[in-house]
Order: sequence, then structure tokens, then C-alpha cells
Amino acid sequence: MTQAENHNSTWVKAIRAAAQHGRLSHAVILTGEGDKVQAARYIAAAHLCRAESGRPCLQCNACRKVLDRIHPDVTEVQDSERKELPVETIRALRQDAYIRPNEGRRKVYLFTDCAQLNERDQNVLLKIVEEGPPYAAFVFCADAVHSLLPTIRSRCVELRMDAPQESAQEDEAAAELCRVIARRDALALTAHLTALENRRFKREQLLSMVEGAWQITADALLSRCGKPGTCGEAADMLGRAFDRRQLQKLTDLFRRYCGECQYNVGVGHVLGALGAELAQTLAL
Ligand SMILES: [Zn+2]
Repeated sequence: MTQAENHNSTWVKAIRAAAQHGRLSHAVILTGEGDKVQAARYIAAAHLCRAESGRPCLQCNACRKVLDRIHPDVTEVQDSERKELPVETIRALRQDAYIRPNEGRRKVYLFTDCAQLNERDQNVLLKIVEEGPPYAAFVFCADAVHSLLPTIRSRCVELRMDAPQESAQEDEAAAELCRVIARRDALALTAHLTALENRRFKREQLLSMVEGAWQITADALLSRCGKPGTCGEAADMLGRAFDRRQLQKLTDLFRRYCGECQYNVGVGHVLGALGAELAQTLAL
């Protein structure tokens, strides 16, 4: 979920805000740069997530099933054997859509490559996109929005994914670290930090990760204190895993390490010390 968990992504914010207010459109077209298939799964998770708020939480049973691609109410429609999807596939899908969901509130169909949908396919699809059962939802991944007929497009909300930002890699490293911390598993944390060291993490990357983690923990703390804001998944996870006092300590610790990273000490040394202090601070 590289892009999906980049908490700065405009489209991620749009999905989360819509899901929060129960206004997530039943039909979405994803265009633009980045991993659209993962983004489509993210939207499916937002439809099916069982968390009270902060959907998709990416932690509940439903979210996990969607991300592991084993949720019975999510269908990825594709055909690796053929260039275009046979119309029989679409007809079968149309029938399937009228069978109620197995365990979720919705049934979500992900079209991972709209170039596979020819005009005939789309005309067959149109009916259920237009007036299918209320629980049916559709996500279309399209390199070019024009690969979809105007009739389909007019029923959908188009979401353009951001061009990958230069700092996305570092943002992701910070988010990843925070997610590992939120698991409250000292062993996993040590393994994660060791892996970074083995990957020959550079000092600038370390600084960027620590700064990012500081930002994320500060976000988590703010939302824990009741300040509404645009919180990313990683911050949400921290907010659920720790109380206010722990989040305060975590924020302080990362802020201090931003300073530590400026000195000319080895990356391995800083990662080791960080791991030990995190485990101690959070009593993992
Ligand atoms: Zn969830």
C-alpha cells in the first residue's frame, strides 16, 4: 500500500473523508499515477471496514481480508489470458451482483484494467452501475478515462491519483515504522530496525524517517486530544494502540532523535539506540 498509506495523498484524504461521512460513491474511476489496483483495494476496504470511524482502519478483520484478497464480497474482475473481457464474464458478474453480500455491507467489484472492457462489456455493465442493487459498488482503474464510455463515466466519481512525490519513499519509511510501533511487538520492532540497518539506510534517509515519524506521532497525539485533523492511517493506528501519555512520550522521543540524527554518528548506532528507547518508553 505504498501510495495508499502516504498520508499526504489527496485521494486518500478524499476517500477517508467520504467514508467518514457515509458519502463514499458506489462507483469510482481511478486515474492518474501510481498503483491503482492497490488503491482500488483501499476503496473496497473503505466500503467494508467495520471500524466505527477512521475507515478504512486497515486493521479490522474485514480490512485485512480485503487487503489479503480473500474477502468474499470483493471481486477483482480481470482476465490475464485475454486482451478483452468476454461479455459472458460481465453477464455473470451482473447476475452475481443481485446475490446479497456474504458478510459485508456491500459487494465490491474492482475492474483492475479498464482497457479490458470493450464497448459491449460496458454497455452490459451500465445497467448495474446505473441502477443495480444498493449494496453493489464498483471501482474502475483506468490509465485513460476515455477508455470508459461517457454513459459509465457520468455515473462515477473520478479520483485522480497524485503523481508520486519525491519524498514518498521517506514518508513511507516513517509510516511503516509507526505501523510497526503500533503493533506493540518488541521483536517485530527490533527486526524492522535491523532490516533498515542491513539495507544500508543512509543518514539523510534516517533523518527524514525520524522527522516523518515525529510528524505522524504528533498527528496521533493531536487527534487523541480531540483536535480534528487530517490524520493518516499510521497516525490512526498509533492513536488506537497508545494512550495520550504514551503518545506524548513518543512524540518527545522522535523530536529528540531529529536532533541526534544531525550529529555525525553511525546510522546503525542511532537505529539501535532508537529501538531500545522505544521499547523502554512504550514498555513493549
Ligand atoms: Zn477496517
